[in-house]
Amino acid sequence: MAQLSETLQADVVILGAGLGGLGAALTLAQGGARVVVLDARAPGEDGFSRGVGLALVGTEEHPHHLAGGLGLERAAEYVEFSRRSVVALGALGAVHPGPTLRIAFGEREEGDLVAGDALGETLGLDRSVWTQDQVAALLGGPAPGAARASKGDLHVDPAASLSALRQAAGAAGVVLRYNAAALAVEDGAEGVVVRAEGLSVRASLLVYAAGWGMVGLEPWLWDKLSPVRTRHMAAAALPGAPRLGATAQYGHLSFSAGADGALRWAGLRWATPHLEVGETDESAPTPAIDARLDAVHARSLAAFGPKVAAWSVIHTHTCDNLPLVGPLPGQPRRALCLGFRDQQGALALESGRALARGILGEDPALPSFLSPSRLV
Ligand SMILES: Cc1cc2nc3c(=O)[nH]c(=O)nc-3n(C[C@H](O)[C@H](O)[C@H](O)COP(=O)(O)OP(=O)(O)OC[C@H]3O[C@@H](n4cnc5c(N)ncnc54)[C@H](O)[C@@H]3O)c2cc1C
Repeated sequence: MAQLSETLQADVVILGAGLGGLGAALTLAQGGARVVVLDARAPGEDGFSRGVGLALVGTEEHPHHLAGGLGLERAAEYVEFSRRSVVALGALGAVHPGPTLRIAFGEREEGDLVAGDALGETLGLDRSVWTQDQVAALLGGPAPGAARASKGDLHVDPAASLSALRQAAGAAGVVLRYNAAALAVEDGAEGVVVRAEGLSVRASLLVYAAGWGMVGLEPWLWDKLSPVRTRHMAAAALPGAPRLGATAQYGHLSFSAGADGALRWAGLRWATPHLEVGETDESAPTPAIDARLDAVHARSLAAFGPKVAAWSVIHTHTCDNLPLVGPLPGQPRRALCLGFRDQQGALALESGRALARGILGEDPALPSFLSPSRLV
C-alpha cells in the first residue's frame, strides 16, 4: 500500500534548525508569519550544538587581519553586527562564567596580539591584556602564550543555547520537524514546494539555512560553498578544573570548559595537507589531527581529565569567508542564510534574525557585504 504523505502549508519554509534557521523562524513567527522548519537530524545535532560555544565579537582573526581584509569601515560594521549576535545568543541564558580569551601560540602570534591592540581599540573591541603568567595561573600549568580578552565575548553552553532557541521558536508557533531531510525543492503555482520523506511543505518563500546540506538542492550554491571538516574532542570533568573559553593559534584551535569543568577542544585542521577542505564524511578517522589535538591536551590543558570522546563536524566556507545572507540572486522566492564557518556560528543567529526582518518588510539592519549578490 502507498505510504500516506502529509502536506503542510506555511508562509515561509526554512531548511535547517541551527542558529540561523531557528533565529529566522522565531523572528518571523513573532512577526505573524506561519513558519515550518525542517531538519535532517535530531534536535541537538546541528553544528553549533556540537561545537565549542565561543561567541566572539568580531572574528577569531586578530583585528588588523580583519581590517586588512575588509577595510576599516566594513570591519567596524562587521564588529557591530557580530556584537548584536553575541548579545542575542547571551540572552538565551546559557552563558558560562569565566573569561573568554584569544591566546597566542608562540612568539610570532604574540606579535600579532600586540599589533592588533591599536586597531582593536579603533574597532571598539575594548580588549584587556592577559600575560602568559596570568594565562598559566588560570590553566594551572604552562601556558602557550599571552592572551587578550575582548569585552562582550561570551562562552556559552552551545547545546543549551540551541535548546532554549528551539523552545522559544516552538512557543511562538513555529512548526519544527526533525529527522525530515529536504530531498527536493520545486516551484509551485504560488510559491515553492519542499519534499521530504512522507512530507511536503507548500510555502510562499523558502530559506536555505542548512549549510553544506543545501548544495544538493540548489545549483547556484555549487561553486559558492566548500565543506570543511573540523575535529572535536571532549575530556572528562576533574574537580577544580578551570572554567574558560578560548581561541588560539589564529583561530585554528579552540577550547572550552564550562560549569562542570569538562573540556571540549577542537580544530587544527591544518594538520592535514588539504586542510580538510572538501571532506564531507564525519565518521572517517583523522589520525594526524587527533595526534595534534592530543598533544595540545597533554602540554597545555593537563589540568583537565582524560579524553573521553572525539567527533568531526562539517562546516561551510565561502570563497571570501563571509556568510551568504539575503535573497538568492534571480530567485525571488528563495533566500540564503548559510556559509558560517568554524568560528562564525554565533553570527548565524543575528543573520537569521536580520533576514527575517527583511522578509517582514522591516529594515534588516544587515551589512550589505553579506549579500549573496556579491558573488554573482
Ligand atoms: C568543531 C566545531 C566547533 C565549533 N565551535 C564554534 C564556536 O565555538 N563558536 C562559533 O561561533 N561557531 C563554532 N563552530 C561553527 C558553527 O558550528 C557553525 O558556524 C554553525 O553551526 C552554523 O550554523 P547554521 O545554522 O548555519 O548551520 P548548522 O548548525 O550546521 O545547522 C544546519 C542544520 O541543517 C540540517 N540539514 C542538513 N541538510 C539538511 C536537509 N537536506 N534538509 C533539512 N535540514 C538539513 C542539519 O541537520 C543541521 O541541523 C564550530 C564548528 C565546528 C565544526
